[in-house]
Amino acid sequence: MSDKPYTPRAFFSGFDDALPRVLLSPQKYVQGPGLLDRLGDHLALLSVRRAAVLGSERCLANEGKKAIESMKRAEIDVVIAQFHGECSVLEIEAQVRALQSSQIDYLIALGGGKTVDAGKCIAHRLNVPSVVAPTLASNDAPCSALSVVYTPEGVQESVEYFARSPSLVIVDTNVVAEADERYLVAGMGDAIATWYEARICQSNPKAITPAGARPSLAAYAISEICAQTIYEVGEAAAESVAVNKNDDNVEKVVEANTLLSGIGFESGGLAMVHPLALAYTRIDRVHENYLHGEIVAISTMAQLALEKSDDLDKAARFFSRVGLPVHLGQLSMSPENSDELKILAEVTMTNPNAHHMPMKLTHEIIIQAILDAHEFGLTIADEFGDEAYRRLHN
Ligand SMILES: [Zn+2]
Repeated sequence: MSDKPYTPRAFFSGFDDALPRVLLSPQKYVQGPGLLDRLGDHLALLSVRRAAVLGSERCLANEGKKAIESMKRAEIDVVIAQFHGECSVLEIEAQVRALQSSQIDYLIALGGGKTVDAGKCIAHRLNVPSVVAPTLASNDAPCSALSVVYTPEGVQESVEYFARSPSLVIVDTNVVAEADERYLVAGMGDAIATWYEARICQSNPKAITPAGARPSLAAYAISEICAQTIYEVGEAAAESVAVNKNDDNVEKVVEANTLLSGIGFESGGLAMVHPLALAYTRIDRVHENYLHGEIVAISTMAQLALEKSDDLDKAARFFSRVGLPVHLGQLSMSPENSDELKILAEVTMTNPNAHHMPMKLTHEIIIQAILDAHEFGLTIADEFGDEAYRRLHN
């Protein structure tokens, strides 16, 4: 059992010298069609003998079957750990208690973002390496050595950091292509933000990444090609996934959403987008009805509005074409609800990443940025319609 918390910021600032540059990534990333059928072979390369498979009931009955059969073919003992839907301390600790005496040497997290985040927390507490097999490309959780932990009601509560990155991230793109288009699109929202946040951190000599260190040029370059890829082929990839087709555009976007975005945010740094996006989870009807990447998209527009960046136009047009929210109404919010806007500003201000922005933030400045982005989004929605959004949110 390992219960000593690891804090990257404290670890790297424990020296008198300047902070080092750090690049974190999973030990191995494998992506392609049909890979769940070969999961056992990939685990055998890591000498896995007995592994827990964490997945929701639905996932274990579907994708999980393939994964478990392939593990059995590779003579790996499988311990089933059914996940109950929320990455909360309550759920994590219940899973740890259940697995404590099962003598597993690895934990496999199979599913969406919450399963993945919970899996990393459970593996850390059991002191075993983690393997992540995402079934959606909706977020950048799989490749990082941290998890966002929520209350049992789904409000963001804390972030846990781990000294070990996942040993293997393995993505079966046929499974991703079978999922609802909305998930891939949300992942694009999460991934495009990576570039805009890394860009801020690269030009701020005081910025510290979630890896607890200075941003690396490698992560900066990765985050740039991440956004570039999505702008180029994101719409085409969404069209393919809408008819459950897997092709080269889907492969590119899955890599951008999962690997490039993951490395990009963790070792390239965060700015105002993610603190604001996490603040939105304080509003129940937002976190109950919208995906992380959708909330990130509208938060990206707020950061770009604050920067007075020309990319606000580029991002908003792209978001409206693929069906990401571009104004508050598309998040079931209203610009008139000043109490909710105040909550967003207050929570954003408490997150150190937000202060990587070059200007001094105040509640008024954050609220103005949200409103400016909202107004801009309304003009875009007027001009281009909201057909894609309505298709994904019917
Ligand atoms: Zn994110």
